[in-house]
Amino acid sequence: MKTIEDLKPLIDMLQEIQHLSSAGALLSWDQETYMPPGGGGARAEQLSVLGTLVHEKRVGEGMKRLLSQWLDLETGKIQGGGSVWDEPAYGLLREVWTDYSKRLKLPSDFVRRIGKAASLSHQVWVEARKKNDFSLFAPHLKIMIALKKEEASYLGYADSPYDPLLDSYEPGMTVKQVVPLFTALKAELVPILEKVVASQVKPKGDFLCFSYPVERQLTFGQEILKAMGYKFQDGRQDISAHPFTTSFHPTDVRMTTRVDEKDLCSSLFSSIHEGGHALYEQGLPPEHFGSPLGEAISLGIHESQSRLWENCVGRSRPFWQHFYPILQEHFSDQLKNINLDEYYAGINIVRPSLIRVEADELTYNLHIMVRFEIEKALIEGDLDVDALPGVWKEKMKEYLGVVPESDADGVLQDVHWSGGAIGYFPTYTLGNLYAAQIFRQAKKEIPELCPQIEMGDLLTLKRWLNKKIHRWGRQYPSEDLLQRVTGESLNPRYFIEALKEKFGEIYQFS
Ligand code: ZN
Repeated sequence: MKTIEDLKPLIDMLQEIQHLSSAGALLSWDQETYMPPGGGGARAEQLSVLGTLVHEKRVGEGMKRLLSQWLDLETGKIQGGGSVWDEPAYGLLREVWTDYSKRLKLPSDFVRRIGKAASLSHQVWVEARKKNDFSLFAPHLKIMIALKKEEASYLGYADSPYDPLLDSYEPGMTVKQVVPLFTALKAELVPILEKVVASQVKPKGDFLCFSYPVERQLTFGQEILKAMGYKFQDGRQDISAHPFTTSFHPTDVRMTTRVDEKDLCSSLFSSIHEGGHALYEQGLPPEHFGSPLGEAISLGIHESQSRLWENCVGRSRPFWQHFYPILQEHFSDQLKNINLDEYYAGINIVRPSLIRVEADELTYNLHIMVRFEIEKALIEGDLDVDALPGVWKEKMKEYLGVVPESDADGVLQDVHWSGGAIGYFPTYTLGNLYAAQIFRQAKKEIPELCPQIEMGDLLTLKRWLNKKIHRWGRQYPSEDLLQRVTGESLNPRYFIEALKEKFGEIYQFS
């Protein structure tokens, strides 16, 4: 049987490309953390040169020659099929061809045009948001929508032009799957939300906005990251406007956070969230660096790792049973009169609000549904950009019962559309659903998991995730991976059950 040893020339080339790409990622990391403002122009040029170089190598003659030795470049059919290749080699060839053929479908002139338009549109969005003026952004959004439709036509689709865009973030996922999933989810979420809103129990959260010195907040967050098994010798944490995680190699995985003296939750939960992303990247097999076997499988699965740590663990009672007394030691003045129950209810307050990134676990997915419906309609041609602010308000009223007074707090709040990231939003909700299903399986397989978490032992869970999810890279498509890990395909029931249990207890309903 042939193995990945037989693919060495291909793997060498993929590694070379990945090193170039990692150099670009390092430049981007620097841009978001330490670059002086004056460096912006030159940095954009550097990133563009590197990006072009990487793209040319990925679709160039060298790659074509190598790939054609083992597969049909037109169809992706691997010579000899699964009987000649072992599983890793077969998976590697399948994924390399998927990337290659997708990239080849986009004409280089189009890639240049959309790159330029996205960069300009992003700049205008920043300004429009600051000035609360949608009319500034509208012409650019129209251009981006037209370009994304053009992209969909190059990539090809059977049912909806939204499908190939969604597929580039969550391979294999389609509108046909997402619509019924979201409809079912909405039907379950809304009654839970109604019960929460009607409940007599009104947890207090004012103590979360006392003054918390930022240095101590960061120190505490890093203690938690260490307990999660994040290796600081293979990473670091810095400050940026928007928290993110980036990897140059499994031995250098960096994350950022933002920290606000008047908001204990912001840095704390963003650190745990990014920590979940970072554990995935540190857990990818270094021996497969550069090849798909050393990469994360999809954005949805990536998000499942961050949400699992942030919500299933970080907002759970067992977790705080151990960590709350430590938190109280760090902030004895602020928290001395707050007991564990009050703290736990405080960090889990449900409140329908305008801003997605500040939303609680229960209402978060309703924000995503609003965006999904709108971007799908924009791409399918059922909605005009000029109608967006009005439609946004209608949908927010319908889903969350709140209406923004300004577009800055409404349709202009998210960065995604400005840069052409259309089809991205659903991966957040998929991540939440995957997370609940995966965490439930972990508890089933490790009966002592919750008692361990209560004792502050998070490493058992980390190792389980390493073994079940991280180490596989892209060997199994997300649906297969989920099936292998949990024994069934995506099932929103587990997410709903977990929410009912948690909020039923906090808000005292059944
Ligand atoms: Zn995330």
